[in-house]
Amino acid sequence: MQYVGSAANPIPADERSSGYDHPTQDLERLVAAFEAAHDAIWITDCDNRIIMINAALERLIGKPRHEIIGTCCRETLRIHTTDGRSTCRDVCPVLAATPTDDAVEACLSTPTDVTVWVEIKYAYIRDAHDQLEGIVHIARDLTDRKALERLKDEFIELVSHELRTPLHHIKGFVSSLLQPDVTWDYATQRDFLQSIDRETERLTALIAKILSFSRLEAGYLTLNRRTCDVGDLVDVALQRCRGLLSRHQVAVHLPAAATVQVDEAEIELVLINLIENAVKYSPANTDLTIVVEQHSHATIFKVIDQGYGIPAEQRERIFERFYRIDRPTRRIPGTGLGLAICQRIIDAHGGRIWVESGDGRGSCFCFSIPHRHRAQC
Ligand code: ADP
Repeated sequence: MQYVGSAANPIPADERSSGYDHPTQDLERLVAAFEAAHDAIWITDCDNRIIMINAALERLIGKPRHEIIGTCCRETLRIHTTDGRSTCRDVCPVLAATPTDDAVEACLSTPTDVTVWVEIKYAYIRDAHDQLEGIVHIARDLTDRKALERLKDEFIELVSHELRTPLHHIKGFVSSLLQPDVTWDYATQRDFLQSIDRETERLTALIAKILSFSRLEAGYLTLNRRTCDVGDLVDVALQRCRGLLSRHQVAVHLPAAATVQVDEAEIELVLINLIENAVKYSPANTDLTIVVEQHSHATIFKVIDQGYGIPAEQRERIFERFYRIDRPTRRIPGTGLGLAICQRIIDAHGGRIWVESGDGRGSCFCFSIPHRHRAQC
């Protein structure tokens, strides 16, 4: 092996001095750098056989090197496009008719059939007579970048849908009120204005939720803990939700004179989110119960409804950002951010949030605030 260059930029013959004057030492250093590289690297010969790989490739595809070395690159790594078409014949410097010098985005297959997104760059190894000896493939793992791109797309789609709905309603009511050839009576005007007011509140709440989420995602949560009466926390949350509760019977069960060390604004936000969900995902005229229990290690808050419930396999996933249960029979507006916000706030308090539920048999959302923080404030 004499030197490495790309197809477009071969190193000229008179500049081919390696700069490496102590072959054994230099080789050891190069191998150490090769092994430590964050990018997955593998070298193939002109028969497309893999002759050398680094540790990052083993990690990336989850296979030990003795199962990779000596195998055919095309068959082992099965590099393909998202629609499953092999990219080797289009871009591989050995297999393609017009190989590319640019980095190529593609997917690698793993033994467990997990698809790994990578960006591959090729470099050419030539002998002293300029004959191609092999190819260096350098693959950067794009999994995180792709996940972020997907998240951004989902976020934009969801938020624009949720913003558009109340805006459409507002526009509809305003256009009706402004029609020059119609005179609305006082009661109808008031009705329209109340609807506009309700939709504006919905928009404001939605924007507040998005801002809370991005604040928490950016790590800007600084807790301002103080001793709070659990009854006061529940009262404030219920007060804030009173506009929603007219069609539910609410019962509250509190321990006598219990306090917690929390950031009251954040815990109220959690309670409000849980109460709003209890109302949103329950039929009218059902009971909503809030229970606070003192346990030896923690105070546990419970928001219990008699609503649609949550299937067992989705009870963990609903706390993921943007995760919503698809209920084909009823489309209930939402962003899938509320529970993700709650989880981040409760985590910051050192507690836990979970749901106990049967599908169709109501839900009991619980969160714990550990007592150990009592001493800190
Ligand atoms: P959103 O309500 O905006 O969709 P959340 O993060 O608050 O977002 O909730 C995520 C999902 O969890 C909801 O879409 C809903 O399917 C489910 N969920 C939350 N609370 C309840 C509840 N009390 N009863 C039934 N399902 C619920």
